[in-house]
Amino acid sequence: MQKWSLKIKVLFPTTKKRETEVTLKPWALRGLICSGSVLFVFAVVAIVRYVSFEADRYSVRKLESENRKLKDEIAYLKKEAVNVNKMLNELFDANNRLRAATGLDPFPKEFLLMGKGGNIEELSMESKDEAEYLRQELDRLVNVAKFQLESFSEVSSKLEKDIHLREHTPSIMPIAGYYTSGFGMRRDPFTGMMSFHEGLDIAAPQGTPVVAPAAGVIRSVKWDQGYGLTIEIDHGLGIMTRYAHLLRARVSPGHHVKRGDIIGYVGNSGRSTAPHVHYEVRINDKAVNPIKYIIPPGIYYD
Ligand SMILES: [Zn+2]
Repeated sequence: MQKWSLKIKVLFPTTKKRETEVTLKPWALRGLICSGSVLFVFAVVAIVRYVSFEADRYSVRKLESENRKLKDEIAYLKKEAVNVNKMLNELFDANNRLRAATGLDPFPKEFLLMGKGGNIEELSMESKDEAEYLRQELDRLVNVAKFQLESFSEVSSKLEKDIHLREHTPSIMPIAGYYTSGFGMRRDPFTGMMSFHEGLDIAAPQGTPVVAPAAGVIRSVKWDQGYGLTIEIDHGLGIMTRYAHLLRARVSPGHHVKRGDIIGYVGNSGRSTAPHVHYEVRINDKAVNPIKYIIPPGIYYD
C-alpha cells in the first residue's frame, strides 16, 4: 500500500536563499484535511445563518411597517364607518318621513340593525378582531344602504302613481254656474215622469267656456237627440266624464287635455229648456254623483 506524504518548501521572504523542507506524514495530512473541512463547513453554516438572519430582520422590519400602515388604515375606516352609519341613520329618518307622507308604512328603527344587536346610534367598534368587526360592520352598512335604496324607489313610484291619479281624477267644476238639477231620481221636465238623472245640471250663459276637470283623452264629440252636442273624456283608471247640451266643441276625439283646458262652450242643444251643461262622471261606465268629484276651491286633499 502506497503511503502519501506532502513536502512543503517554505521560502522565507527575508532570506530568499534559505529553504526549509517540511515533510508531512499521512496521518498529519489527513488531520489537516479533516480540520480544514470542518472549518470550511462551519464557515459556510455561519455565512448562511448570517444571511438568513439579515433577511429575517429585513422581513420583520417590513412587516412591522406594513402592520403600522394597516392599523392606521383600519382606524381610518372605522372612523368613516361611524360617519356613514350616522348619515344612513339620517337618511332612514328622511325615508320614513317620505313614506308617511305618501301613505306607505314607515319602517321600525330596528331595521337599521340588519340582524346585529347593540345600540343603533353609537355602534361600538371595540373588538378583539378589529378587521373582522369592521368587515361585518361594512356588510351591515351596505345592506342598510341597499334597503334604503329600495324604499326610496318604492316611495318614488308611489308618488308618481299618486300624481297620475290626482291629475286624472275630476276635481273641479267644468263651468262657472249654478246647480239647477242634482244627481238621482227626479221628475223629467219634458215627460213629467219620475226618472233617474245620471248627472248634474249646471246653468250658465250660452257660450260660457266648459273646461276639463282632470287630465284625459277626448273619447267622442257627437250629436245625440236627447243630449244634443256631447263631449266625452276618458281619464283612464276607469273614469269617464260627459258634457251635454253644448253649443260648440273646441276639441276632437284623440285630443289630450289637462285640467282646466277649454273643451267647448255652454249651449242649449238637444232636450234642454235653457242654456246649461249636463255633467256626468262615470266610474267603470256606472254613473256616480259628480258632486263627490267637485272639490270646493281652497280645499286640497292629499
Ligand atoms: Zn241633466
